[in-house]
Amino acid sequence: MAVSMGVEEEFHVVDVESRMLVARAHEVLDRLPARGFVTEFLQSVVESNSGVHVSLDALHEDLARSRQTLSEAASGLGLAIVAAGTAPLARVGTVDATPHPRYLHMVDEYRLVADEQLICGVQFHVDVPDRDTAVRAMCVVSPWLPTLLALSTSSPFWLGRDTGYASWRTLLWQRWPTSGPAGCFASAADYDAAVTGLVRSGVISDAGMVYYDIRPSAHQQTLELRICDACPRVETVVMIAGLFRALVVDACAAVRGTGECGHTRPQWLRAMTWRAARSGLGGDLVDPTTGLAGPARAVVRTMLTRLRPTLEEFGDWELVSAMTEETLDLGDVAHQLRRIAAGGDLTAAVDFLMAQTRTRPATGAPVPAPGRR
Ligand SMILES: [Zn+2]
Repeated sequence: MAVSMGVEEEFHVVDVESRMLVARAHEVLDRLPARGFVTEFLQSVVESNSGVHVSLDALHEDLARSRQTLSEAASGLGLAIVAAGTAPLARVGTVDATPHPRYLHMVDEYRLVADEQLICGVQFHVDVPDRDTAVRAMCVVSPWLPTLLALSTSSPFWLGRDTGYASWRTLLWQRWPTSGPAGCFASAADYDAAVTGLVRSGVISDAGMVYYDIRPSAHQQTLELRICDACPRVETVVMIAGLFRALVVDACAAVRGTGECGHTRPQWLRAMTWRAARSGLGGDLVDPTTGLAGPARAVVRTMLTRLRPTLEEFGDWELVSAMTEETLDLGDVAHQLRRIAAGGDLTAAVDFLMAQTRTRPATGAPVPAPGRR
């Protein structure tokens, strides 16, 4: 069985000296090949788009290569890239939107919510058989998305202070009018009509502003996962890609078999997401199989066990289960950052994130020269 995946990673641009978030993404992008690297809404973010891959090893190599290319471009400017939900040290109002009509409209319309969008995520795309199946599979996958969020939580610090959350980025996202759980739809036509209605309402300007935790691609036959914080270690990204692919493949099989989606109420999904954003892997998560609070480690292992047959079918089991156990041992990044910055020194937290984001080549393979994509 071959099911393709792709990943979009967002990175903060940080000044190496001051460790502050800076609006210099365009300078980094000017030094990069046009293909594979793009601007984002705010001028402090660069995004890299992976190729399409069937194997996790190939995805790993691709992501590691892009990070190295980005790091090299940034370091020549006294800058570094940081993959984390938030940059610990930043100031609101110092980062302008990328000058593009769509982005300037967002600044105008959404005001402080837009100004404070100083956050980075990682998005995962997995191929699906058709858009109808994709839309119905979203509902089956949704109860497990908070568990994937918990594995990625990396944004405890916001504007120089500890928020008390593992993923403050999640709380910032939830202020947009069309973010959060996707909802339950019978078909692609049903979903598309709902999106058209939202655009027609004038609350959002285009379908690209549908920021649900999961959504079907408008043009490709993929499901896109959007709930996760950007992850400093590339291995975490690879692990979540493997888990999400297995979740999607199982969900597609389920809706094609029984036709049922096992609908979970959006309010319930929102509560489960809050739980994951609050404590990450450091406390309880809501177990989708029971609806009860359970230790995060146990809920993650429940998910892993359920996905095992599919992970084995893809040959991903050893890699993904080992990476998951390693993540449970290390704890989430939010808790690691809090330990590092225990003395109140957030520059140490930024240094940790910079070092983790700068990856080594995957599996000892030689890293091709930048630009040869
Ligand atoms: Zn449903």
